[in-house]
Amino acid sequence: MTDPILETLESDTQAASGAEVVALVAEYFDSTRDGTGAVSTELTPEQLAVRFDEPLPRGGQSLRHVAQRLRTDVMADANRLYHPMYMGHQVAPPLPAAVWTEPLISVMNQSVAVWEMSPTATVIEHRVIRWMTDLVGWDEASGGTLTSGGTEATFTALLAARNAIIPDAWTDGVGANPPVVLCGEHAHYAVSRALGELGLGVRSLITIPSREFRMDPDALERALVDARASGKAVMAVVATVGSTATGSFDDLSAIGAICDAHGVWLHVDGAHGASALLSESRAAALHGLERARSVAWDPHKGMLLPIATGMLLMRDDRDLQRAFAQRAPYLFHERAGARAWDLGKESFQCSRRADVLKLWVVLQRYGADGIGRVYDHLCDVTCDLYDAITSRTDFEALHAPESNILCFRYLGAGNQDSDFIDALNRNLRAAYNRSGKGWITLTVLEGRPVLRVTLMNHRTRTHHTRALLDGLAAEAAKLISE
Ligand SMILES: *Cc1c(COP(=O)(O)O)cnc(C)c1O
Repeated sequence: MTDPILETLESDTQAASGAEVVALVAEYFDSTRDGTGAVSTELTPEQLAVRFDEPLPRGGQSLRHVAQRLRTDVMADANRLYHPMYMGHQVAPPLPAAVWTEPLISVMNQSVAVWEMSPTATVIEHRVIRWMTDLVGWDEASGGTLTSGGTEATFTALLAARNAIIPDAWTDGVGANPPVVLCGEHAHYAVSRALGELGLGVRSLITIPSREFRMDPDALERALVDARASGKAVMAVVATVGSTATGSFDDLSAIGAICDAHGVWLHVDGAHGASALLSESRAAALHGLERARSVAWDPHKGMLLPIATGMLLMRDDRDLQRAFAQRAPYLFHERAGARAWDLGKESFQCSRRADVLKLWVVLQRYGADGIGRVYDHLCDVTCDLYDAITSRTDFEALHAPESNILCFRYLGAGNQDSDFIDALNRNLRAAYNRSGKGWITLTVLEGRPVLRVTLMNHRTRTHHTRALLDGLAAEAAKLISE
């Protein structure tokens, strides 16, 4: 007699079983459409933990029952990114065609580490990477790989840069006088983290001050000269396009020219902003990107893919091949005179999901131009919010938006001292998010807490951003009267 679990597995492969879960996805799209209901939960992690505090399930239950729990226990208190009032972090309400592709990626489960495990997906990844390096403006020598995200992409780029400057580091380590890396003061923590991970030590990071939230090229020039004068080799300069706090774009032409003059590796962290390449009107912000030796670009940010869809692009793919000097002859196969098909030896990961398929699908379905226009729409609504803020006296904007990110503050009647305004903005963010009316973030700029929105949702329109300002003002009035 066979174990009934085997029959359960077989019955779960029927379309009717899948329909239980697909119905939840459709319900989610529907229930978030008209902007009713709370954007997030008011429950604390402790309260939520009580809900899931149960012993390891030893036996199974019906898929219907499990789907029901997903609905009542998980979805009900999740952040609803598809709600038009979600304006928080740089995480997308993912493009629908990508969502529908996810189960297919799972069911085929092609590992893109080696071609023999993913005959079509590996070839597609090569194709998609080539499309992207073409957009950057690089030639046939370029290459790259998909990654789990921008953090892995920047880590891998800096590993390649380390290998270029200390070719023996893989076997011998970095030695007592490691090279330095320079980045803007608003760079993502992925940069300092990589230095720790790579054995250079975070003390090897030199941060360059900004002008209007962009790396100051003159200060970069001086810091490069100073580093050399103090006997330090420079491993890389990291520029950021689409900084996390304000979505600002460093001047890649100026920074690229300086890096060329000093013979220094330029890595561009375009996790957020490289997607502007798809926009007809905004690609100019990336002028000079082709000067980079490596670029991190997260389709799961500006191209609105589900996590995890990250990408590292290399001007010369051999830099990436050398980064991971390891050999695994039982796994990888060489291809004479060309880039090997096997992508695993150019990646931090071994087993790797064919996330490229959802990227390929959205390019087929919406076209690069269509996705570029969605990016434009998000930036346009952000500009409109900026205009609305500057026309009011009870708010101030901290910068003009360069992408879909905007930082601003609530000032009220403007007659309070600045400590009061600081505390008010902190409390306001918490109160507003708890109200369920919307969801935004808080960051610190020049020592002050500021409200921050990232518009990632194609459903968010001008009347929603007006509702944001009115909702914040109403919550602030409550806080002040308490
Ligand atoms: C989001 C982001 C990162 C980190 O990317 P992950 O995909 O979250 O790993 C790095 N740099 C910038 C500028 C980002 O916006």
